[in-house]
Amino acid sequence: MNIGVLALQGAFREHRLMLEKCGVGAPEIRRPEELDAVAGLIIPGGESTTIGKLMVEWGLMEKVKSRAAEGMAVYGTCAGMILLAREIADSDQPRLGLMDARVRRNAFGRQRESFEADLHVKELGAGPVKAIFIRAPYIEAAGPDVSVMAAVGEHIVIARQGKLLASAFHPELTEDDRLHRYFIAMASGQA
Ligand code: GLN
Repeated sequence: MNIGVLALQGAFREHRLMLEKCGVGAPEIRRPEELDAVAGLIIPGGESTTIGKLMVEWGLMEKVKSRAAEGMAVYGTCAGMILLAREIADSDQPRLGLMDARVRRNAFGRQRESFEADLHVKELGAGPVKAIFIRAPYIEAAGPDVSVMAAVGEHIVIARQGKLLASAFHPELTEDDRLHRYFIAMASGQA
């Protein structure tokens, strides 16, 4: 099975290494037609305005939406989570708008620009997920079809809606591959 990694900007190399460690192919995605050969797509962290602008320019925005409608799974981490959301607080930047959620960018404030937290995620089994947040967003409101998998206080940091997965932090920067394995299972219809 192939899980593509959107490779326009940001932390795509680390996601590819993680996916390969999990035993799936991880092609870099830059052109719309490359999406025809993958069961899932990871949108990495980086700068959501830059990634969104490049997606529009390269014809990827419409193609990702149509592949998602056909059943391709999509996992957005950090900037990728912002791009998945239907609403972005105080911003009209380009987005996929697939997940029924409102995100806020750089939401944890200046004191907490970058921090780590241990998250308990029932779907991933025993043992906390050590989450690395870097100028991270969070989900501040979500529709009824969105299930919350983890939160920091009131703020949603992992969410799933059907074959869409979003996390506010960077799982590819740790050794813990459980979220990637969970997403691979989602993409193959086993989770
Ligand atoms: N702050 C970035 C944005 O708003 C996201 C940061 C990240 O992906 N680590 O796009």
